Amino acid sequence: MADPRGGRPLGPRVYADRVGTELQARAASEGLALGPAVRVEPLDVPDDLPTDRTFTEVARGTADRLEGLAARVRDEGRVEEADVLDAYALIATDPALAKDVAAGTGTGDPLVAAIRAAVERMAATFAAMEDEYFAQRADDVRGVGRELVATAAGREGADPDVPDDAVVCADDLTPADTVRLDLGRVAAFATERGGPTSHTAIVARAAGIPAVVGAAGLMAAVTDGTTVLVDGDAGRVIVDPDDTERDRAATAIEGQHRRAEEHRRHRGTRTEFDGHRVLVAANVGTLDGVADAAEAAADGIGLFRSEFLFLERDDAPDREEQLTAYRAAVEAFADPTVVRTLDIGGDKEVGYLALPAEQNPFLGLRGLRLTLAHPDLFDVQLDALLGVDAPERLRVMFPMVSSPADLAAGVARLEARAVATGRTPPPAGVMVETPSAALLAPHLAERAAFLSIGTNDLTQYVTASDRTHGALGAHQDAANPAVLQLVARTAAAGAAAGVPTAVCGEAAGDPATLALFLAYGVEELSVTASRVDLVRWTVAQLDPVAVRAAAERALTLPDADAVRELVAPLLP
Ligand code: PEP
Ligand code: MG
Repeated sequence: MADPRGGRPLGPRVYADRVGTELQARAASEGLALGPAVRVEPLDVPDDLPTDRTFTEVARGTADRLEGLAARVRDEGRVEEADVLDAYALIATDPALAKDVAAGTGTGDPLVAAIRAAVERMAATFAAMEDEYFAQRADDVRGVGRELVATAAGREGADPDVPDDAVVCADDLTPADTVRLDLGRVAAFATERGGPTSHTAIVARAAGIPAVVGAAGLMAAVTDGTTVLVDGDAGRVIVDPDDTERDRAATAIEGQHRRAEEHRRHRGTRTEFDGHRVLVAANVGTLDGVADAAEAAADGIGLFRSEFLFLERDDAPDREEQLTAYRAAVEAFADPTVVRTLDIGGDKEVGYLALPAEQNPFLGLRGLRLTLAHPDLFDVQLDALLGVDAPERLRVMFPMVSSPADLAAGVARLEARAVATGRTPPPAGVMVETPSAALLAPHLAERAAFLSIGTNDLTQYVTASDRTHGALGAHQDAANPAVLQLVARTAAAGAAAGVPTAVCGEAAGDPATLALFLAYGVEELSVTASRVDLVRWTVAQLDPVAVRAAAERALTLPDADAVRELVAPLLP
């Protein structure tokens, strides 16, 4: 699987002996696509465009339009995009921005110039932030600026006309741009700016559309209709590929479609490894995710990231709102739904909790540590979970457990709320994502109903490399034998105690690592809904004897590359 944080943002490389211009970029959404370029560009509005609108009218008009777009995509189930558009509407009407624009117009600047200058100042504040995620929000602010300028000019965006199989090329795309596109016609996205957490990358991954970002020189190299090849695995773009490259790409794309069709044939089948059933569950964060998981015929929900109910809002959801969400998830599947209690902290912040800033948030008051320190918040969530009142179909999972004492404290709180509310507590399990939890798994397994390994965090903690750090992407490979040793120990501890072990990190959906996990005794793989078919198909093709031998040897190797090299020939 390509690492979306990899890639080398270099300039164009033009081959003297052929027409194709290859641009290095960053892989943002896997897959290969070939099609005609469609340029999506900001409107050409001069700084001194005469307008009789006031900024208040412009801001209000922009916010209304963005809210309208949000409602449109929300109806289509594109909740994440809708939330971002609502956030854009808030930026458009931000009083600090209005004040800054007024300062500009007050000294005689034309409105459009004043908007651009104020937006750039706001964007620069974000861009200066060290955290890559926040730094990338500068592009969001600029996106709102473009919408404000369009309103000031009276040229509110029309839906672009996109031909079939279009490769959408842009400097950067905002949610306001992507919602105006018919995604069914988009073969790929390529942008000059943006990183793996940019809006384009998120939309592309959610829709299964290949994408690259950070393709320097792209807009200078394409005009509308230029044939463009986007390689979302290797992170590159070839503008106007020659016949050989086109043929090669067409064959690869055909193979890609054939494989997807083949994977699709495994939908809803029973998955087994060496005669033992493997549950292929889904990771979800929203009720739309639950619907996607049901459509993918997942064997239940292996990870409901409950914190998504708490993010991007002004106050915490009450018991009733949470109960509705948990109940809907539980009712969608016959198999139990695993709800992870709030995993706030680390890279997920909630403004209304007014938590003090931490020096090292990933090593701080995160997950269960935070909820135990905020019993009011925790009790509402536990009461909502107990309110589902279906202990046989619900599992509660505690995140960021680093000791048996953590688990005991979480279980004690759950049991206390069960007594207080007169309900039966559902079985509770542990997310194994700290090295200490993996090493102490035999003790945790004595008390937990299940273990579920979060390889995303386990990898960052084992390799001491922040998972959000743009320059440390190469360290985030769960095929690292150091991680594999902990997975193997955890699964062995689960088996010894008669407790099932799952993996719910992204590595559960990566053929190379999932094969090894099964050999170590992992019984459940919980993956994003779009990978459920691929996982079932992969497991069905594995030769258990060969995989087991490789899995043993993998534990003795020095690094992830050596492991991947060893496993590659065994994969379908
Ligand atoms: C993990 O850490 O592997 C995991 C599944 O949880 P999250 O990515 O939400 O931290
Ligand atoms: Mg985690």
